[in-house]
Amino acid sequence: MQIYSSLNILANKICGKNNLADNNGQKSVTNACHTLCSPQSIPFYGLHNVNKLQSANNYLQKAKTESGKDENDLTLADFDLDKLDGIQQGIGVFKGLSMKEIAFASQNVLGLSVNHGCSSNCAHCFANAVPQHYKPDSDMINRVSYEDFNSYMGGYSKLNKRLGFNSLKIDENLSPYFAMFGDSDCIEMQMKDKNGKIYDFTDANEIAHKTTGRLGLFDTAGWNPKDKRYQDRAEKIVKYFSKPENYDKMCQIDISVNPFHSLNTRSIELKNEGNDKASQKFRDFYTDRMANAIYTFTPLMDKKNFHCISRAMEDSPKSVEGYQKKDLKELSDEIIAKVENKYNDDFNGEQKYIKSPEQINKYLGKLNYELKDRVRGIDPEGRAEKLFVKDEEVQKAIKKDKIESIEEFPDFTKDLKENAKESFRDIDLNGKVYINGLPTEIQFNFDNKNKKTHGDIEDYNGRLITKEMVKKAY
Ligand code: SF4
Repeated sequence: MQIYSSLNILANKICGKNNLADNNGQKSVTNACHTLCSPQSIPFYGLHNVNKLQSANNYLQKAKTESGKDENDLTLADFDLDKLDGIQQGIGVFKGLSMKEIAFASQNVLGLSVNHGCSSNCAHCFANAVPQHYKPDSDMINRVSYEDFNSYMGGYSKLNKRLGFNSLKIDENLSPYFAMFGDSDCIEMQMKDKNGKIYDFTDANEIAHKTTGRLGLFDTAGWNPKDKRYQDRAEKIVKYFSKPENYDKMCQIDISVNPFHSLNTRSIELKNEGNDKASQKFRDFYTDRMANAIYTFTPLMDKKNFHCISRAMEDSPKSVEGYQKKDLKELSDEIIAKVENKYNDDFNGEQKYIKSPEQINKYLGKLNYELKDRVRGIDPEGRAEKLFVKDEEVQKAIKKDKIESIEEFPDFTKDLKENAKESFRDIDLNGKVYINGLPTEIQFNFDNKNKKTHGDIEDYNGRLITKEMVKKAY
């Protein structure tokens, strides 16, 4: 997830994926926060703070009654935020933030990034994801700490209890899910607490769903089948998704299959160098990897929100040989043949997933459809720009786009509140808030707030959203 390029891009293109709107099985967002709405008493924080908290609470209750709205329909925009200031008192993650700033940071949050970095190193990665170990600065972090993640989620749970409504609610037409990745793979997603305990996607999704009331999103481009740590984690994740109560917390689960993965890219390079033997070895590494990932996710094959993301370049002389749709078709046939072998072995042996030949036919039918009939193209963004080098028209468009895209950004300096209404916020590992990929001065009080991340943007063509702008607009 390219947090620094904004999770709003992610809404359409996570790992080169299709817009969620064209998927049949999309679920509606659950009506969030039933458990978060119970009234609660105000804890004691010292006389001045109690007065501020108490008067904010008095205003809140009065304004809620006067609004005549159902609590589930309320948002922070329904209140005078100056009068509501103080309701956040004593909640650590909001320390130093006014209610205006919290309202700005809570509106249309697309997600909170758990990791930066991805080991797949795909040639078409729009997010320009670099491997996780790449940390050019010793002060740089590539994962959110478990404590900061919990502090954000726990802080909002407390605030929502005080408010009586979910301040992280979002119009489901804008985003049905809460995303926790952009330039990373969900199998590699992990947080570590101070005692070294590791929390994976399932743990993060449980916490995020409970707090935000939104659905989860999971993507993987596979893992090395010989890596027991990731294989065990994948099986744990599949077990988690297999339970209906957990599956219902998910918007979509995807396996990304394409010719751009670094293993296949290497195979293409070696073939071009005339080293067919080594080329085949890398091709097998990739097809084995994907066949194993698909086999591991077999228990979800029947689920309507389980998909493969399949992308390639057009079959054209301007496209790079090896990355075209015809190449993906050959690659997919090889992967499907390997999956079929695994299914036959399973049926004739342990019957871990496969109990009948009909099941094999059904699953292979879905795979053929997903990998060969739903193939989409790629856009010349991020690393994928280089793949369009033979296409002068695209190169011209890229140059033009780079100039125009800056101009096309909403001018937040003119009418921040209005322009921010449909703009996405995303939260970086250090608590910094971005809007449509642009940096803001708003930052949550994370332990790691002074650390740098791969997502850091100091400014974007002078369009930093300042605290003063938020103060005036909200
Ligand atoms: S390197 Fe590949 S798998 Fe990783 S984030 Fe980029 S496109 Fe997705």
